[in-house]
Amino acid sequence: MTGPVLDHLGKVKLELGPARDAGRQKGWRAARDENDVVWLLLDVAGSDTNTVSRDVIEGLSDQLDQIGDNPPACVVVRSAKPSGFAAGADITMLSDMTDPEKAQALLRQGHEVLDRLEALDCPTVAVVHGAALGAGFEIALACDRIIAVDGAHFAFPEVNLGLHPGLGGTFRLSDRIDTLEAMTLMLTGKTAHTVKAAKLGIADKVIEERHVANAVRAACAGKLNGDGPGLSDRAMSMAAARGIAARRMRATAGGRAPREHYPAPYALIDLWEEHHGDRSAMQDGEISSFARLLASDTARELIRVFHLRQRLKSDAADDDDIRHVHVAGAGTMGGEIATWCAIKGKWVTLFDPDPQAIGGALGRAAAICKDQHLSAIETRNALDRLIPDPAGDGVPAADLVIEAGPEDIKAKNAIHTGLEAAMRPTAILATNTSSLPLDRLAKPLRRPSRFGGLHFFNPVSKMPLVEVVSHADTFNTVGDRLAAFCTTIGKLPARVAAAPGFLVNRALTPYLLESLVLLDEGLTKEAVDTIAERFGMPMGPVELADRIGLDICLHVADSLAGQIDKPLAEVPAWFREMVEEGDSLGRKSGKGLYAWDEGRPEKSPARPEPEDGWTDRLILPMLDACVECRRKGVAGDADQIDAAMIFGAGFAPFRGGPMRYAHARGTDEIRDRLAALAHEHGKRFAPDPGWDEMG
Ligand code: NAD
Repeated sequence: MTGPVLDHLGKVKLELGPARDAGRQKGWRAARDENDVVWLLLDVAGSDTNTVSRDVIEGLSDQLDQIGDNPPACVVVRSAKPSGFAAGADITMLSDMTDPEKAQALLRQGHEVLDRLEALDCPTVAVVHGAALGAGFEIALACDRIIAVDGAHFAFPEVNLGLHPGLGGTFRLSDRIDTLEAMTLMLTGKTAHTVKAAKLGIADKVIEERHVANAVRAACAGKLNGDGPGLSDRAMSMAAARGIAARRMRATAGGRAPREHYPAPYALIDLWEEHHGDRSAMQDGEISSFARLLASDTARELIRVFHLRQRLKSDAADDDDIRHVHVAGAGTMGGEIATWCAIKGKWVTLFDPDPQAIGGALGRAAAICKDQHLSAIETRNALDRLIPDPAGDGVPAADLVIEAGPEDIKAKNAIHTGLEAAMRPTAILATNTSSLPLDRLAKPLRRPSRFGGLHFFNPVSKMPLVEVVSHADTFNTVGDRLAAFCTTIGKLPARVAAAPGFLVNRALTPYLLESLVLLDEGLTKEAVDTIAERFGMPMGPVELADRIGLDICLHVADSLAGQIDKPLAEVPAWFREMVEEGDSLGRKSGKGLYAWDEGRPEKSPARPEPEDGWTDRLILPMLDACVECRRKGVAGDADQIDAAMIFGAGFAPFRGGPMRYAHARGTDEIRDRLAALAHEHGKRFAPDPGWDEMG
C-alpha cells in the first residue's frame, strides 16, 4: 500500500539523525550523532524506492570499514526515502547474473558484508517504515533489533521470481522467529504487516514515526529485547521432526505449484530439512541453491515477467490529471471499481438507478478495505472519498466517467448519451464492457474521440490488469490519459484496439469453450482442470468459468461468435439451459459446474494423468487467438500480449506467456499441430495466417 504509506508519511518528517544532510556514497548517507550513534541511511540515487544492488552492498561494506576504524556506541540503519525501507534486490542485477559460478561469488561477497554488520560489537538497530522486502528485509535481519514504524511490512517475495531468499534470509529469519512461521513466510511470499510482524517477533517494537528517536535510544541502550526463536524451534532442531514437517510443507507446496514448474519452494524445503540449525551449512546451501535457481528456466522467465510488468507501467505516464471519477452502475464491477479508485486516492461518486445496489456496493467497500489490510484511518479516508450519488449529481464535476451498467448495447447507448450530455467537454467517458463493439457504442456520441474502454477484470481488487481500449476515433491523448489513470490506481494498463473480445477474452473464450467440448466427450471436470493445471495455469478452465460466472461466459461467447470470422466450438445445449435456469451460475450461486463451499469448488481428489492431445486442444486455440490478435494489431507486440495474458488471464507465468511459449516450443510445430487438430476436430483449430509470419 505504497500510496497510503506515502500519504501518511508525507506529512510526517522522518527522523534521520544527522545523516539527513550527509553526502551520498554508493547509496548510503552516514553521520555520527552526539551520542556516538552512527546513522546509516539507505538512499539510492535516481529513484523514489530503494533497491539493493551490488553498489549498495559495496557501499555498506565501505561504511562498515569506516565504522571498524572508529567503533561507535550504536549503529542505526534506516531508509531516507518516504516510500519505505527497500523493495528488494535490483532485478536488473539478478537478470545479469546468468553464470552460476559468478553468481555464487557475488552472493558470497554480499553475505560477507551482512555477516560483518551482524558481527559488529555495538548494538545495531534497523528502523523500518513502509516495505522491507527481499534483500531489504535481509539487511534489517542482520541488525540486532528491528523497530517497525506503524504501517511497516515485511516479506520475502522471491518465490514469485522462482527464487528463495539469497542474502542470509533463510537462516536469519528462522533464527529470529518461530522457524515454521519463517518457512511459511518464505514459501508463500506473503506479507507480514505491522501487527503480524510484531506478533511473530520480526519487529521488536512498533512505534509511530515521532517516537523513533526515543525508541532508537532505548534500543541502543539495550532496553529493547526480542523474544528470540519460537516454540517449535527446539522440536525442529531434531532431524526426524523436521522430516515430518518438511513432508507436510512439500504437500502444501504441491497443492499450489508442482516442483517441475516451480522448483524454488522445494529447494528451500530441502535446504531447511537438511541444514536447519547448522548456520554455516545453511549459509553455504543457501548460496549454492540460490545460484542454481537463478540459472533455471523458471527464474529466468519469472524475472522476464517482472520486467514485462515494469514495461506495462512505464509505457504509461504517472500523472493522469484525474481527481474525480464518476462510476455509473454499482453492480459487481462498478461497486468494486469505485471502491478501488477511492482506496487509491480518487474522489468517487457512485450512481445506480437501484439504491440497493449502491448500498450493497458501500457494504462491500468496507470488506475490500479490510482485505487490503488498510489501517482504520486509511479505511475511513477511502470510505469518505466514496460518495453515494443516487441522483447522478457528480457527473458534471467528474474528470472521468466509468460506465459499468448492464451488458446490453441499447442500454449502454442510452446511458452514455445521458452521461455525455451532463459531462464537461474535456472529461473522458470509458465503458467497462467485456464484449460489445466500441465503434457501435461510440456512434451515438457527440464526442466519440473522448470515449474509450477501461476493461477491468473480476475481482477488481485482485486482478492487476486493465485493458485500455481505443476505437478508431479515440484520441491518442485520451488513451494515454486512461493508461496513466490505470497506473495511478495501481493497475497495469494494456493498450489494445477495439477488436471483438479485445485481447484477453478473445484468447480465453476458445479455451473455455473447448473445456465444455471435452466435458461432452466424457472427461470429468477434475480431469479437464488437471490438464490446464499441469500445463501451469493457476486454475483449470472449468473452475475459471465458475468463478467468472457461467452467464457472463455464455454472453461473451455468444457475443464473440457473432463478431469473429473464425468458428468457435458450439456451446453445448445443456450449458445454455443451465444458464437460462439461472440458479447454477457458478461460484456466485453456490453451484455451477462444481458445487461451491465457502468460495471453493468441491472437487473429487481423483487426478488423471493428462494426455498430450488434450493439453494441445485446450491451450493451442488460446495461442492461435493471440497470434490472430498480433496479426490484426489488437495488441502492440508479442511482449505486450504475453504480459496481458499473464496478468489478465493467469497464463502460466513460468512459461513467460503464450507468445514466449510458442517460440520456445517452435511456431512451425504448433502451426502443424493445429492443422492436424483442425483435420481431426474441425475448423475451429485451423491455424491463423499469422503463424507464417512468426518464424
Ligand atoms: P451487474 O449486473 O452486477 O451490475 C450492473 C448494474 O448496472 C446494476 O447494479 C444495475 O442496477 C445498474 N444499472 C442499470 N441501469 C443503469 C443505468 N441506466 N445507469 C447506471 N447503472 C445502471 O453487472 P456487472 O457484472 O457489474 O457488469 C457491469 C459491466 O462490466 C458489464 O458491461 C459487464 O460486461 C462488464 N464486466 C463484467 C465482468 C464480470 O466478471 N462481472 C468483468 C468485466 C467486465
